Amino acid sequence: MQLTFLGASGMVTGACYLLEAGGLRLLVDCGMFQGKEEGLNRKPFGFHPGSLDGVILTHAHIDHSGRLPLLRKQGFSRPIYTHPATADLAAIMLMDSAHIQEADAERENRKGRRAGRHLVEPLYTQNDARAVVNLFRPIPYGQLVRLNDSVEIRLQDAGHILGSAIVEVFETDDKGRTVKLVFSGDLGQPHRPILRDPALIDEADYLVMESTYGNREHEPLESTRAALAEVIRSTISRGGNVVIPAFAVGRTQEVLYQLNALAEEGQLPRRLKVVLDSPLAIAATEVTARHREVYDEAAANRVHDGDDPFSFPGLVMSHTADDSRALNESKEPMVIISASGMCEAGRVLHHLKHNLWRPDSTILFVGYQAEGTLGRRILQGAAPVRILGEEVAVRARIESLPGLSAHADQAQLVAWVGGLKKPPLQTILVHGEGDAREELARVLMERGHRVMLPVLGQSLSLPASGRVVSHKAAKAAAAPVEPEPYRVAVPDGDALSLSAKRMAALLRELKAVRKAWNSHGAHLPAGQAEELARRAADLQRDLEEIRLLIEAASD
Ligand SMILES: [Zn+2]
Repeated sequence: MQLTFLGASGMVTGACYLLEAGGLRLLVDCGMFQGKEEGLNRKPFGFHPGSLDGVILTHAHIDHSGRLPLLRKQGFSRPIYTHPATADLAAIMLMDSAHIQEADAERENRKGRRAGRHLVEPLYTQNDARAVVNLFRPIPYGQLVRLNDSVEIRLQDAGHILGSAIVEVFETDDKGRTVKLVFSGDLGQPHRPILRDPALIDEADYLVMESTYGNREHEPLESTRAALAEVIRSTISRGGNVVIPAFAVGRTQEVLYQLNALAEEGQLPRRLKVVLDSPLAIAATEVTARHREVYDEAAANRVHDGDDPFSFPGLVMSHTADDSRALNESKEPMVIISASGMCEAGRVLHHLKHNLWRPDSTILFVGYQAEGTLGRRILQGAAPVRILGEEVAVRARIESLPGLSAHADQAQLVAWVGGLKKPPLQTILVHGEGDAREELARVLMERGHRVMLPVLGQSLSLPASGRVVSHKAAKAAAAPVEPEPYRVAVPDGDALSLSAKRMAALLRELKAVRKAWNSHGAHLPAGQAEELARRAADLQRDLEEIRLLIEAASD
């Protein structure tokens, strides 16, 4: 086997590893670089996308999946193996990401045109995202999949977000010797709500492991919940808002789950208004509610008892941009959960602009903030900060609850590695910034591991160990199945007739907007003309989405 590190090596974003094994060229993850590494997204991949035989996607987070549409755009057309829940989540996340890429390029070009600059192309479009989603081949946890005569793969539950997976790769040579490589993917914390604990792996010749919190210990869940309740009670009683920047997938659902439980225990103010202000987070919550097959026992019991764990009185979904804007004008104190989690884009920027300067409001971070992101700067006490081109004072209370993290901490990572009967020939640490990775390396070396910290672009050959890995489960498994192509979930008849009605309404509005444009467009002040053009583009996009839904249903 040969492994090349093309992302998340000495950093936490852009996860991407090229694995050459048994005559196959496979990619494990194809994530977006974020924060200070963002510029790397426009650099060449370091291989020809058309030469790949497949991709294995560990989970839907954009720092693991975000460059898949770019891969498609540059000629990749083979299967993407992933868990069914990840397929559903990644489908909505990649469409959202493509929309952001298109909108960013459009904004850039509006400015660029005035400044006489060359126009930029979006990194990828919604068409690229749609095309890549069609390549998904969902496989459940524990199912052995044979890729060719010598390579098999299997996914195991990583307990990080819905559908997240640890990847086991088995390569067997013609003498029957098997070498086993394990990618931990992102590992979750054990004993957390909703998801099961990360699966323990008992054997690995080589291990590629994340190290995000390799130098940290999280607060216990109980004190984290108590702190969450306290922050909300004190902020609301001051008349301020609690703004929670949260990853649309994972953190948002865990925060909702905790708020639901705290509300039931009477620990939150009565009639507390909680707004989920992110269309992506709303869609991801719907996907989470659907995939009950991956819930842990407690969450499954809640559902069984008739409770919807992601819903409670006072919870409001904010769908449209108008709903979102209205929140900033409201005097009523509330909790606003909004994306993106690291404050790099999205509606959360508006909420920060309207709340950071208010001493009665609180900004509550619940997830990892990578170097170079606005979230990290606010956490480190930067003031004032620039948001959407405006200087904003920082007077709000700034709080962080790393205990709600989707990532295992140092002790949990070490405990997970302890599931191996003996240390691998080589333990390779990725997905961690400098100190975190080095500290975890030190702790693992004390426990007898040979640890390696690859740098970006480094290649490593992983020779067969010369011993026969038992590969028991693999032999015992029934004949490996060929995964079915991915089918985008299609709404039922009721939803379709609603879509058709909505389509008619959107068309009417589009006609009105066009009419307004034709009669006054040229004479409108710049702001209003742009608003009109934007509205027309929004309407067209909504219409296109509904058209695709109806088309998919009639296939
Ligand atoms: Zn992740």
